[in-house]
Amino acid sequence: MTAQLIDGAAVAARLRQTIRERVASLTADYGRAPGLAVVLVGSDPASQVYVRNKGKATIEVGMHSIEHHLDASTSEAELLALVARLNSDPGVDGILVQLPLPGHIDSQRVLLAIDPDKDVDGFHPINAGRLMTGQTGLVPCTPSGCMLLLKEVLPSLAGLHAVVVGRSNIVGKPIAQLLLQADCTVTIAHSRTRDLPAVCRSADILIAAVGRPEMIKGNWLKTGAVVIDVGINRIAAADGKTRLVGDVATQEALQHVQAITPVPGGVGPMTIACLLNNTLTAFERRQRS
Ligand code: NDP
Repeated sequence: MTAQLIDGAAVAARLRQTIRERVASLTADYGRAPGLAVVLVGSDPASQVYVRNKGKATIEVGMHSIEHHLDASTSEAELLALVARLNSDPGVDGILVQLPLPGHIDSQRVLLAIDPDKDVDGFHPINAGRLMTGQTGLVPCTPSGCMLLLKEVLPSLAGLHAVVVGRSNIVGKPIAQLLLQADCTVTIAHSRTRDLPAVCRSADILIAAVGRPEMIKGNWLKTGAVVIDVGINRIAAADGKTRLVGDVATQEALQHVQAITPVPGGVGPMTIACLLNNTLTAFERRQRS
């Protein structure tokens, strides 16, 4: 069997192009571009890179990028006051507070303060509840990206057995909900699951969202399965540098599966594209309301 590598960079580029065209038309109609506000507290190097990339991608699709870089000593009250200002700012359609926040700030309290209709990360419990009950809301970006990648190879997911390894609120649980909405039979596995290899072997669709380098081996996979590898793990490489790997042993998996996302270049590029898509969705809904 020749396995297909699902090219997340190409799918994300297509999505960004569609967003760019829609933004141009909406900006002409409404006299302003959708606005995404990103808030960074402190100077964590990885967070700085993420925020820079998000700002660049926002501008590239023609949206308005608003960045707030706050000192690490910013108090929770000051951050909440900024979120309140962004909530009531008519030019802001999406708000993202970059995590992790410094230890003296209660992240949950901050996320709860974001207007659910501007919560483009989709982390607010109201949006989690909307997803759970099939109502219109904003869906977390990485899970949305996984679904778009699955649709590249599987036009219909109905009746397939999907196994999601990982049950975090931001990846595992929302992906499981989306798969259920797509009429899959869904199993959620985690660190206490018994005989994980056997559970994985029963999957037509396997989603790995664990954070353990190459934990899922080739012989854990059903022949012809479709695998979405969400994991991003940095490991030491032979040349003394580091390299990124997923949660699935990709080279082994290629001997068994129908299709798999590579790491890097699979799910990763979809996340920012889906963030832009959520901002566009939030803008359109606010214009209509
Ligand atoms: P979390 O650490 O929040 O959750 C990890 C999950 O994996 C938990 O549910 C945990 O189970 C489960 N787990 C841990 N060890 C095992 C094991 N040995 N067997 C089975 N299950 C196990 O991670 P996230 O969900 O935030 O992220 C998962 C991965 O996805 C990470 O590598 C992260 O970097 C990556 N990621 C990638 C993104 C992208 O854009 N591509 C975006 C977000 C995340 P339990 O609940 O029992 O502890």
